Amino acid sequence: MRAIIAGAGPAGFAVAKWLTDRGYEVVLLEKRDVPGGKVSAWRDADGDWVESGLHVFFGAYRNLLSFLDECGLNDCFDWKPAEMVFASPEHGRTGLRFVPFLPPPLNGLAGVAATKLVSWPDKLRMALGLVRPIFGSHAYLDAQDEQSYAAWHLRHGMGERSLHGIMDTMSLALQFQTAENVSAKVPLLALMYFAQEPGAARMGLVKGSPHERIWEPMIALLEQRGAEVRLNARVQEIRYNQHDGRVDGFLLEDGELVEGDLYISAMPVHSLRKVLPDALKQQEFFSNLKHLKGQPVITAQLYFDRMVTDVDNLIFSAGTRLSVYADMPRVAPDYNDDTGSIIQLVVAPAADIIALDDAALLELVLEEFYKLHPIAREARLLKHTFVRIPNSVYQARPGVDKYRPDQATPVPNLFLAGDFTQQEFLASIEGAIRSAGRCVDRIDRAAANGTIQERSAPAEMVI
Ligand SMILES: Cc1cc2nc3c(=O)[nH]c(=O)nc-3n(C[C@H](O)[C@H](O)[C@H](O)COP(=O)(O)OP(=O)(O)OC[C@H]3O[C@@H](n4cnc5c(N)ncnc54)[C@H](O)[C@@H]3O)c2cc1C
Repeated sequence: MRAIIAGAGPAGFAVAKWLTDRGYEVVLLEKRDVPGGKVSAWRDADGDWVESGLHVFFGAYRNLLSFLDECGLNDCFDWKPAEMVFASPEHGRTGLRFVPFLPPPLNGLAGVAATKLVSWPDKLRMALGLVRPIFGSHAYLDAQDEQSYAAWHLRHGMGERSLHGIMDTMSLALQFQTAENVSAKVPLLALMYFAQEPGAARMGLVKGSPHERIWEPMIALLEQRGAEVRLNARVQEIRYNQHDGRVDGFLLEDGELVEGDLYISAMPVHSLRKVLPDALKQQEFFSNLKHLKGQPVITAQLYFDRMVTDVDNLIFSAGTRLSVYADMPRVAPDYNDDTGSIIQLVVAPAADIIALDDAALLELVLEEFYKLHPIAREARLLKHTFVRIPNSVYQARPGVDKYRPDQATPVPNLFLAGDFTQQEFLASIEGAIRSAGRCVDRIDRAAANGTIQERSAPAEMVI
């Protein structure tokens, strides 16, 4: 059978790999000239890598890690100590370190006890307040989705200081929005995984650009298996046949109709909505997608003429827009060419600054960065890049979780994958891989019960 997949991000690649495992003929269509979606990278005019975003991988990413293992790519990460390093104008460098020799959740609680980020009364209130999610279940977390994390935090007796000193930063790093705007389920889910799974808080960064380390080898693997990966192939419309209630092609921008036996959208939700035909948009399953809006975020890269940090890990900050960043030559060996720091930053919340021009944005980012790392004022800024992403992950606002769609749609030969679809984890790379697993599971079931079949299959002869 021939499967047509739209979207070569992590979810699209995983669906493609698992369908080739099952003997499907696969065509993977990607609108951009680079693969990888929100985890893509490309070279600028000087030959330097520009990344769509700083990506950290956790030990909790079991599905992603085993997928990369299957693809022979388990060596692409540089693992760091399980520690949240904080930079702050008041405290300098401080941290929250998961104590390595203790089992979860004691390793995290001991980390909170040792941190200078909050006072002793706040630590005690956090330890008590977080008991429920630490020992919680998915059902408990689902029930918290209607409220914001900030409301949940304060209702459970924890104060403003720990909210703004730690949990805002965590919400910004996970969802690019503050704890006031994010569903309580999001930070609680991350805490539950860290607290319950040994090794979950371990953090890794790609050793170099994800393009060279992950997507190029992944494309080679798929092509070896006969799959076709087509870049610059934007799906303009999902062609839906109202007579038989099935999709009969993905129509590309240039007018080509790409046909198969089954179709998978691994596009982000805002892109999927653009290509749905009116007949599908009206169905409740698809019209619910309007509740899932993209979250704006900006990725900045600052090139200095010397090293301006000495941290071989992610760096978090509280109370700034630079929620998380890293010095790429320190954290990723492929970036280390003995010149200077390349600071890659996630700038969020970004809704009110995404339209600023580069000069205004640079001023804002540098002002905050210099406050956190005053030594950088002595260095020369050689160049900078900005990547503005108006629709990154879907906005996990309170009450939105219930609108996330299943991977099986009401159209028998149309399936969905992507971090926004229903899966047990956060909208993340791990979430995208989990969604792909669920998508392939739905396809297996549809193939087993005959809901999808080859178009060219000989019609049954009725005598
Ligand atoms: C700045 C930033 C930092 C992040 N940091 C982390 C992190 O540290 N850890 C983590 O786990 N996650 C992180 N994420 C989130 C992570 O990148 C996403 O959750 C993940 O990439 C989602 O994968 P996906 O395959 O569902 O979608 P995407 O990665 O968005 O891929 C979808 C693909 O579909 C393509 N497409 C869209 N429209 C069409 C069309 N019409 N036709 C054909 N193709 C189309 C897109 O071009 C894209 O390639 C970060 C995201 C950003 C933006």
